Amino acid sequence: MSCDFLALALPGVQKLSPYVPGKPVDELARELNLDPAGIVKLASNENPLGPSPKALAAIQNELAELTRYPDGNGFVLKEALARHYNLNLEQITLGNGSNDILEMVAHAWLGPGLNAVFSAHAFAVYPIATQAVGAQGKVVPAKDWGHDLEALLAAIDDHTRVVFIANPNNPTGTWFGPQALEQFLQQVPSRVLVVLDEAYIEYAEGDELPDGMQFLAAYPNLLVSRTFSKAYGLAALRVGYAASSPEIAAVLNRVRQPFNVNSLALAAATAALEDVDYLQRSRQANTAGMQQLEVGLKALGLSWIPSRGNFIAVDFGRDAAPINQALLHQGVIVRPVAGYAMPSFLRVSIGTEQENARFLQALHEVLSQ
Ligand SMILES: *Cc1c(COP(=O)(O)O)cnc(C)c1O
Repeated sequence: MSCDFLALALPGVQKLSPYVPGKPVDELARELNLDPAGIVKLASNENPLGPSPKALAAIQNELAELTRYPDGNGFVLKEALARHYNLNLEQITLGNGSNDILEMVAHAWLGPGLNAVFSAHAFAVYPIATQAVGAQGKVVPAKDWGHDLEALLAAIDDHTRVVFIANPNNPTGTWFGPQALEQFLQQVPSRVLVVLDEAYIEYAEGDELPDGMQFLAAYPNLLVSRTFSKAYGLAALRVGYAASSPEIAAVLNRVRQPFNVNSLALAAATAALEDVDYLQRSRQANTAGMQQLEVGLKALGLSWIPSRGNFIAVDFGRDAAPINQALLHQGVIVRPVAGYAMPSFLRVSIGTEQENARFLQALHEVLSQ
């Protein structure tokens, strides 16, 4: 006799759909019998520069120690982060990617009868982490595709434990400024944890976007999460971190898996953090690539949501699925975002100059078919 294990899952889990990642290059090559070398993937907001040579060297150094468990406290990386951001060690929590941080938050503070507030078109991991522990996700309509901070505030009720906000937001690329953040933090009840997801903050130029770290001292209910997956170019290694009050970090440490960040990731992230030159090149390449895409999209008569991330959501004004399919046949992988209630959009990650040009050329062909 077989059992309906879906029916036995938590109600919130029954309502989830699995996370859909960007299509891997080899998968598309197999499906359409294409040469993988000719495929361009602009679907997962990965860094087109390849990893920092310093990170690669650090990994080489670490290989001989693979039989040992990693340092479960991640001391060396935490110390580097503390120095870099002027934090105390006790304020830092390391994660197996910053997704791990988001899950730890859900495990520690959410559950049946409680809710997390977040925006429409927000990162898919917020509902997954929330519903997986039996809590409710309160989804607040967006304003001009971005976070409506006033509406998010208004949605907080007695059962709210967490608010998830990303700045810039993925997949929309929208952002808010320092004043808006300050006003928001002032009004959030101090018992509600604000998770400020800054996965793309290293791409920000100037002081247009707030640096969440600057608000930690005044707001002990703030957690800033960041990652080495994007501007630091280490997505495959899975390493991110949270900066928060020591009290919040101490709670996260209770639910953290003992060896959640592996030794190669710890070594590479420590080296990447010191590679200021690499980060600078990442930022410059992104700014140039964004401009290249905007010029190309404009020439094609298309519109998009202005973005401060390393990606751009392009609006086709009609169902984008057939356009996505046609691009795949051209060997170009971008990201459909119908699952984010944006069926007329495709999200395109900023690639190298050549990759961006390939995308624009393929899009030109597809639209003139
Ligand atoms: C990519 C991304 C992350 C980072 O995920 P990792 O687990 O660190 O690779 C977090 N939040 C948002 C909004 C993202 O787009």
